[in-house]
Amino acid sequence: MEIKDEQMKKILLLLLLPLLTNAQVLHKPIPDKLVVLTFDDAIVTQYTVVAPLLKKYGFGATFFVCEFTNPPFSDKSKYLSWEQIAALNKMGFEIGNHTQNHTHVNKMDSLHFASELKYIESKCAQYHIPKPVSFAYPGYDVGPKALPVLKAAGYVFARQGLNRPYDPLTDNPLLMPGLTTTADNSKDVYDILSKANHGKIVVLTMHGVPDEAHPWVNTPPGLFEQYLKFLKDNHYRVIAMRDLKQYIDVGSESPKDRKSER
Ligand SMILES: [Zn+2]
Repeated sequence: MEIKDEQMKKILLLLLLPLLTNAQVLHKPIPDKLVVLTFDDAIVTQYTVVAPLLKKYGFGATFFVCEFTNPPFSDKSKYLSWEQIAALNKMGFEIGNHTQNHTHVNKMDSLHFASELKYIESKCAQYHIPKPVSFAYPGYDVGPKALPVLKAAGYVFARQGLNRPYDPLTDNPLLMPGLTTTADNSKDVYDILSKANHGKIVVLTMHGVPDEAHPWVNTPPGLFEQYLKFLKDNHYRVIAMRDLKQYIDVGSESPKDRKSER
C-alpha cells in the first residue's frame, strides 16, 4: 500500500509540475514534431529553388536577410534582390533581420547594432514587408549587449547556433538554438529531428540550396527535397519562427532570463 501511495505522489507531481511551469511561458502545449525552418544570408536560390518547394509541401519558413559584402550583395547571380525578398513576403513567408552587412553582434557597440537592425527594417518598410520580429545572429556569435538592443527594437525571437533542440521552458527566446545543415551532416539533421518531442522544438538553419556564395554551408537541392519529403511523410508541422507566438508567451520572460537579471 505504501508503495502505491508513493507512486501516486510521483504521478501527481509529474502531472502538476509541467502545468505549473508551462503556465509562465506557454499559451498552449508544444506539439510533438514541431519544426521551425530558417534560411540565412539572402541567397538567390532561396527564391528560385527553396520557395517553390516549400509551397509544394505547404511549409512555412523564415528568411533572415542581410546585404553581404563578400561576395558583394550587388552580385545577383548569388544573392536575392529586394524585389525577390518582397515576393517571398507576398508568398506568405516571414522576413527576418540578419543585420545590414552580416556584422557579428560581438563586434559592434549597441549604437552600431541598432543602426544595422534599422537598415533592414527601413528596406522592409520600403518594400511593404512587415517590420521583422525575428532575428538571426550572424556567425552565431552572441553577446550580452545584444539582448537589450533587440528587445528595445521589438524583436521577440532570435536564433543562434548550438546544434540542439529549443526548449521554450528553459531557453531564452532571444537566444534560441538551431542546427545548421551542410552538404554532409544529414545524420545530425535526422538525429535532431527525432528529438522534436516532450516540449522541445527543432530549429533548422539553412543557407543556399545550393549555395555558391558560401559553399561551406551549401545544402544540395536533392538533399533538401529529401528533408522536405521526410518531414511531410512523417507528419511534422513546419512553420516560420514568428508562428511560435501561438505557443510561446513572448511577453513573459523565460525562467533563465529572470534568474540572470536578478
Ligand atoms: Zn549568416
